[in-house]
Amino acid sequence: MLTSVIGYPRIGALRELKFASENYFKKEIDENELGKIAKALRSTHRNTQKEAGIDLISSNDFSYYDTLLDTAVLCGIVPRRYRELGLADTDTYFAMARGYQGEKGDVKALAMKKWFNTNYHYIVPELDDDITIKLSGTKIFDEFEEAKSEGIDTKPVVTGAYTLLSLCRYTGSKSREDRFDEVVDTYTGIIEGLKKRGAKWIQFDEPSLVRDLTKEDIDLFKRIYEKILSAKGDVKILLQTYFGDVRDIYEELTALDFDGIGLDFVEGKKTLELVEKYGFPKDKLLFAGLVNGKNIWRNQYSKTLAVLDELKSKGINTVLSTSCSLLHVPYTLKGEEKLSEEYKKHFAYAVEKLAELKEIAELADTDNRGSSEAYRKNEALFAEGRDCKDEKVQERLSRIKERDYVRTPARSEREAIQKNTLALPIFPTTTIGSFPQTKDVKKNRSSFKKGEISEEQYKEFNREKIKAVIEWQESIGLDVLVHGEYERNDMVEYFGESLSGFLFTEKAWVQSYGTRCVKPPVVWGDVSRKKPITVEWAVYSQSLTKLPVKGMLTGPVTILNWSFPREDISTEESMRQIALAIRDEVIDLEANGIRIIQIDEAALREKLPLRRSDWYSEYLDFAIPAFRLVHSGVQAGTQIHTHMCYSEFTDIIPAIDDMDADVITFEASRSDLFILDALKECNFETEVGPGVYDIHSPRIPSVEELVASLRLIREKIEDDKLWVNPDCGLKTREEDEARQSLINMVEAAKIIRKEA
Ligand code: GLN
Ligand code: ZN
Repeated sequence: MLTSVIGYPRIGALRELKFASENYFKKEIDENELGKIAKALRSTHRNTQKEAGIDLISSNDFSYYDTLLDTAVLCGIVPRRYRELGLADTDTYFAMARGYQGEKGDVKALAMKKWFNTNYHYIVPELDDDITIKLSGTKIFDEFEEAKSEGIDTKPVVTGAYTLLSLCRYTGSKSREDRFDEVVDTYTGIIEGLKKRGAKWIQFDEPSLVRDLTKEDIDLFKRIYEKILSAKGDVKILLQTYFGDVRDIYEELTALDFDGIGLDFVEGKKTLELVEKYGFPKDKLLFAGLVNGKNIWRNQYSKTLAVLDELKSKGINTVLSTSCSLLHVPYTLKGEEKLSEEYKKHFAYAVEKLAELKEIAELADTDNRGSSEAYRKNEALFAEGRDCKDEKVQERLSRIKERDYVRTPARSEREAIQKNTLALPIFPTTTIGSFPQTKDVKKNRSSFKKGEISEEQYKEFNREKIKAVIEWQESIGLDVLVHGEYERNDMVEYFGESLSGFLFTEKAWVQSYGTRCVKPPVVWGDVSRKKPITVEWAVYSQSLTKLPVKGMLTGPVTILNWSFPREDISTEESMRQIALAIRDEVIDLEANGIRIIQIDEAALREKLPLRRSDWYSEYLDFAIPAFRLVHSGVQAGTQIHTHMCYSEFTDIIPAIDDMDADVITFEASRSDLFILDALKECNFETEVGPGVYDIHSPRIPSVEELVASLRLIREKIEDDKLWVNPDCGLKTREEDEARQSLINMVEAAKIIRKEA
């Protein structure tokens, strides 16, 4: 059986591309130098795959920033404002990705969005009417030839025409449909160009097919590919999908003249069912995505082989593939020197997944699997199991009752009690939690981690910081204070370190945006709280002032969404375990006199399933109760806040209200103030603090503009439910910016109070 890899990570095992491009931005190296480093990385990545015995290796999966941006550039989709800067090609490209500020002008970057249900971000191509889509670059050809010159015959990959059109932002009057001819010509040109250079396979990535599709979508897809495929001649075309199944278009897809179709058997819940129900054409290859490209656990060979055997028994010609690009997993376990073999033997990063592909493909062709060393080893690994169960956690989970998910009394009753006891002014002012992480703050934390200063020295520094920030907040007239989160860097890492069941890695970097990476922890086993996490800081902070200081926690949904999850238990169960651990912290905070507790669910929105029909059953139906489990144990007078980083929850407002928090703060930049209309329409009960200014930008909002936006907000939200706050934590801002902005915000709230 042949093997195929959809795409390979590209930053380098030691993040070489990140450091090289940063040096390029700082003008420490030139384009030539950057190009050399990139070329060497591509060569390493190809050869690693070749040596592992992969048959179909992708080319053009490399990118300096983002492959969708590359596709846009290849298709000539470069907005005028970037062209007009008159920069060299590479710098025009980076101007779109990162913005440009210099002697040639001042333009912001294009928008960035999460790539489907991953934590990778793509650049949103922008299509204005003055742009004609046409073949405008050679990257895909160059990288194919580069590989060929090294003796590797690759399958060039590019985002397909349908997904490209679906992800573009249309800023003019022309629609997706108006771009039909242009896109067909462009992709035909890509095929011609590759054919001429001797490509045998071309991979078109069409992940947009795993979303809900309308009749028009399906029709557009069909028409595009009927045209494009008529140009293919003897080059083979692989239509690749991932991140789900293609239930809305399976029959149409398999009826088209593709030579291979790539389906995701890991995240595609219905993939196997679709193949069984509708069959799969004998004249095509099915690229079966069975090796998980998103998680770091070893593949269970017997299960994978069972699927392959079934496909074989149906006479389907199968190629074994990854479920999506390996971009979403780290490089290699070889870099994990501190993690013991006990753990590592259960993991497979990109390099190890290549070996899995090869082994499974060979086993698929073998009758006597039991005699294979690789097979026996894999069987033994899964038979042995992992040391991940905690009886106490299990027992506690089994004792959860329905009523544990319900906080009493009802929110309206609590609201009255809290208004009374907290005695806050109308339009209370607050912040989201973190204050600027200045150099000294970072230094203190890193010195402590390196053992350069004692724990007492580390804490003393933080206490000083907290004292200063509490005094300052009081002095400018904020109503509900925070301690500034100086002890945290990454919030998930911070909580994970105090929870048993979490594992931290040294080198498990995965790309998040540009060449930036995150290093998610691994949920290894049953989760419980080892000891109080934030209580000491909270109690100290509260001792400094009579005003309420918010206890500051991260919620279970966010902690799980930003980790590598377990595969042996359900997401639902994992969330519930983490919820119980954080619940312990909530109860402790309350017992220690903390009257307001904020439980951040920054990442709740981003993991909403790609299909609307799955929103509740596959996610909200357990994510929302998990959140309630965290806070249902507190007294009526204790006020629970939550914070979410996106306001794109217009469609799920009842679910957000169902979290049963007392207050929610969220991001609401000007452009999406329509969320407020939706809140009003849904009779949203939770008190709300729609962020009144954008903390992602260094600019300081004036008092007048803050007053103006508060007046607008007041038209939509009842006075006694409205809070005044920035739209997210201040940790990435400069100290002066943050302070002046907050001074203006408090000033604006005072003005508005007089109007109430
Ligand atoms: N409390 C956190 C902070 O202020 C929230 C972070 C977030 O929403 N991403 O930093
Ligand atoms: Zn936020």
